[in-house]
Amino acid sequence: MSTKKDTVLVSGGAGYIGTHTTVALAEAGYDVVVIDNFSNSEPSAIEGVEKILGRKICFKQVDTCDKEALRGVFERHDFSTVIHFAAYKAVGESVSEPLKYYQNNLVSYMNVLELMKEYKRPNVLFSSSATVYGNADVLPVTEKTPRQDATSPYGNTKQIAEDILRDCCHAYEGFHGIALRYFNPIGAHPSSLIGELPRGVPNNLVPFITQTAAGIRERLSIFGNDYDTPDGTCLRDYIDVVDLAKAHVAAVDRMTEGKMEAGYEIFNVGTGTPLSVLELVNRFMAANGVNVPYVITDRRDGDVPAVWADTTTANNVLGWKAERDIDDTLRSAWAWEKHVRSL
Ligand code: UDP
Repeated sequence: MSTKKDTVLVSGGAGYIGTHTTVALAEAGYDVVVIDNFSNSEPSAIEGVEKILGRKICFKQVDTCDKEALRGVFERHDFSTVIHFAAYKAVGESVSEPLKYYQNNLVSYMNVLELMKEYKRPNVLFSSSATVYGNADVLPVTEKTPRQDATSPYGNTKQIAEDILRDCCHAYEGFHGIALRYFNPIGAHPSSLIGELPRGVPNNLVPFITQTAAGIRERLSIFGNDYDTPDGTCLRDYIDVVDLAKAHVAAVDRMTEGKMEAGYEIFNVGTGTPLSVLELVNRFMAANGVNVPYVITDRRDGDVPAVWADTTTANNVLGWKAERDIDDTLRSAWAWEKHVRSL
């Protein structure tokens, strides 16, 4: 018999990564308390999680910016660990509406941290991003690769939040933090019951591909083919969302089992293998037997030519490795799109 595991609070748990992580935590034996304000997600996402698990989960509609509502969650539930996903994530919108991003992403985070300190809850897992590396001089990037000045308020909120966590872990006895730097999460749960639900026109590549394959978008624009890369399109590290969810479980295990070597640790969560935009589109078409019409257009402002992860630390220290085959991931993305559209 395994010993009983801790309870984990998942903020933003109705979102794309939050739902997959909630499933992975519950399957690993953690009790999970999920909160979300549905600002960029739907109640159906929680239903999907419950269908996969075959039972109800503890869910509360709470806005993490509402400190008193959040306090109620701390009063009622005895979790040791918070995974903080709740944040806005549209890079372009953050450039046009910086205050909206700083207000939401930092106030909600501060509320979580202040209450963790007050209620003596020791472990914080923060969703960071490979965006902190900017246009790195040396690839792949390791956790020690210097961060570069953020090119958007969204990216800046990630850097600031990392620094706040580092400082809290340094200052407060017993406080532990892990920042996971996600590369490009894609795909969906193999059940097709949860996945990414972008509102409006998708900003990210794979949702745009699947919507184009479904006929909702006329054609994909590939943003630039004149980069200094093998085929001229940008290189990214596309990480399956189920693998990414498992990285959270590994990080929670590490924190709750007292295995951290420092108060604050950072891990790259990627595959370590770069793929170009063109390669990804072609693999999607081949894996699914569908056509994705595309045109090459101008570069998109702010895109870096290439970034992918050195995953040595995640593999050796966190004991986690990406496993899902990219073609299976791309099939899951299409299966999810068909599920959403009831195609
Ligand atoms: N991309 C593209 N067309 C799109 C969306 C994205 O060509 O409609 C490219 C983008 O230029 C980048 C890659 O796909 O090279 C991944 O972009 P995404 O927005 O998914 O993630 P990012 O790496 O910007 O965080």
